[in-house]
Amino acid sequence: MDSKSSTDVVSRRTRVLTNHLLRQPPLPRDVAVETNECLQFSPAELAEKYDFDTMEMRKLLDGHNLQDRDWLYGLIMQSKLFNPRDLGGKLFVGPDYNQSMEQQREMTMKRIDYLCERGVFNGWLTEKGTEVDLRKMALQEVTAIFDHSLSIKLGVHFFLWGGAIQFFGTKRHHDKWLRDTENYVVKGCFAMTELGHGSNVRGIETVTTYDPNTREFIINTPCESAQKYWIGGAANHATHTIVFSQLIINGSNQGVHAFIAQIRDADGNNFPNVRIADCGHKIGLNGVDNGRIWFDNVRIPRENLLNSVADVSPDGQYVSAIKDPDQRFAAFLAPLTSGRVTIASSAIYMSKIGLAIAIRYSLTRRAFSVTPNGPEVLLLDYPSHQRRLLPLLAKTYAMSSAANFLKVIYVKRTPESSKTIHVFSSAFKATLTWHNMRLLQECREACGGQGLKTENRIGHLKGEYDVQGTFEGDNNVLMQQVSKALLGEYISAHKKKKPFQGLGLEHMNNPCPIIPSELTSSTLRCSQFQTDAFCLRERDLLNRFAAEVSQYQANGESKERAFILSYQVAEELGRAFSEKEILQTFLEAETTISTGSMKNVLGLVRSMYALICMEEDASFLRYGYLSPENAAAVRREVSKLCGELRPHALALVSSFGIPDAFLSPIAFNWIDSNSWSSVQH
Ligand SMILES: Cc1cc2nc3c(=O)[nH]c(=O)nc-3n(C[C@H](O)[C@H](O)[C@H](O)COP(=O)(O)OP(=O)(O)OC[C@H]3O[C@@H](n4cnc5c(N)ncnc54)[C@H](O)[C@@H]3O)c2cc1C
Repeated sequence: MDSKSSTDVVSRRTRVLTNHLLRQPPLPRDVAVETNECLQFSPAELAEKYDFDTMEMRKLLDGHNLQDRDWLYGLIMQSKLFNPRDLGGKLFVGPDYNQSMEQQREMTMKRIDYLCERGVFNGWLTEKGTEVDLRKMALQEVTAIFDHSLSIKLGVHFFLWGGAIQFFGTKRHHDKWLRDTENYVVKGCFAMTELGHGSNVRGIETVTTYDPNTREFIINTPCESAQKYWIGGAANHATHTIVFSQLIINGSNQGVHAFIAQIRDADGNNFPNVRIADCGHKIGLNGVDNGRIWFDNVRIPRENLLNSVADVSPDGQYVSAIKDPDQRFAAFLAPLTSGRVTIASSAIYMSKIGLAIAIRYSLTRRAFSVTPNGPEVLLLDYPSHQRRLLPLLAKTYAMSSAANFLKVIYVKRTPESSKTIHVFSSAFKATLTWHNMRLLQECREACGGQGLKTENRIGHLKGEYDVQGTFEGDNNVLMQQVSKALLGEYISAHKKKKPFQGLGLEHMNNPCPIIPSELTSSTLRCSQFQTDAFCLRERDLLNRFAAEVSQYQANGESKERAFILSYQVAEELGRAFSEKEILQTFLEAETTISTGSMKNVLGLVRSMYALICMEEDASFLRYGYLSPENAAAVRREVSKLCGELRPHALALVSSFGIPDAFLSPIAFNWIDSNSWSSVQH
């Protein structure tokens, strides 16, 4: 090859590569190059029509306290403290991303003071009842929509510190602490986790002994791994904490108990014998001051033991109505379920923010034309873009019903329902938060480069909400507890030779559902088929799990080890349980709506939810619940449903009812908000 032809090859290759990288289609030869007119922004509302009443849909999704939510949205939008800014002629609120960690922490506290003065927290701890609880949850959800740090700082103070006093404490604690907590006269935190022990709370190493001479408990951090770690509020603001500690009485360890200890005085100085350090900068949630605490033989009054489960008499005798240490420990943890309930629910609100922004953007953003000189195509008109976002939208709808169901069973709890609530809150907390993280990543990518701008929220929410998979029960550990509980029900029903009752396992008493060998479109969209397929999967996986655990035991493994070794099927079972129960809650919500276009759209959304779960879980094929042909039919139906849901996409995200100010500029006129005049503002 001579040098000229080799240069030609190189320059041709470079041209091809450049076109490829810039994704520029080659210009047709006969088209003259003209200067394009600037793109005109066209609001999504102009082209999209609403087939159902979005306010009615919002009522179904929010479920409760819509007026209270709107009131708090309004309070936030009115105040300079919430960083209001005008972009493209629209108001947006949200945290100031340029602030340092210290500034963010101080700002979170100022926002709390403002909300406290406006009466937002009235009755949160001093009043009781399902209505009070639901209002509290609705308002906390709104704070989370503004900023995760704000809602977590509130959550630690009200739900963890305040909740521990309510549930582990007795009248003397309620009288002394609840009102002052509600008014922020005391600022509480919750010290359970240690450097050496997180998920395994029973293994914590903090030690508390009793001195009958002074009638005081003595709390001690015996070694570095016993330092309290990650304690929200401890680094800067908290005056008091709940301390979880082993209780040693007369040389015998009575297990983990909860105590109240003061860690700072009103001027912010550390209390004697208390050392506090900062956990430092985190990947998100920097408006919360997570800290570490060491207790150097700190003395507290005997009355500071939270004694609803067990007590120590003045002369140092241990008394508890619950003799079994396992049950006693469970009783201590049961009231903490509220955290999982609010985490599950707020995860779904974050998914709504991500979807509202990404779908609105995809209805105003165009890329490439399919005909020469033709108009560029709206992102959401690409079937592939629909396939990325609309199944996630359907899952978010279904999970919204699940979150509402969870809140209702929680606020109506009775001692008998505590196992059910534990299992459902564990399963839904893990499933909904995992869904949220996956969704935010997809929505971030769906917005291209704009998704990486912090002011557009989605990317930032990933860092802020990642922690939801870990705190208040690590998701993987929680899911193990779900499958363990299902196995427990299985063993007990078989031992007692009694029908299954509870945890949604009643379907196991019926004959095994049969999946038709050929699935038509109408069968695939039929709720009975969808329920049957999900029940079949759960039933089979529970049988398999029980058989595998028992096989390991027959081979000489302990029950615990047999369970650990059967982790794969345990994971599949946990997922099968969650997805089936979510479907159930969605079907129940659907039945509350009378016939009409809204019900029709909900039917499409529900079918999309059920079919995408089947498409994504390999166990349907692995264990043969679906034949390869039926699995292919499911896939085709998902694609058809994408096309049918596309016209309702805007209405479905508008129904979330999140005010525009809490979304982001790319959800609206992103040309105006990025214009030069906007820079000069
Ligand atoms: C930002 C933030 C705020 C927090 N706020 C508080 C607070 O205010 N108060 C408080 O007390 N705590 C708080 N925590 C602590 C939190 O609750 C713990 O981080 C959580 O319980 C997990 O414990 P760990 O970090 O020790 O992880 P580990 O328990 O060490 O888990 C590490 C990994 O091991 C896996 N794993 C653990 N056990 C098993 C098992 N049996 N089988 C298989 N895998 C297993 C887990 O799935 C996880 O992936 C906070 C944490 C963070 C990050």
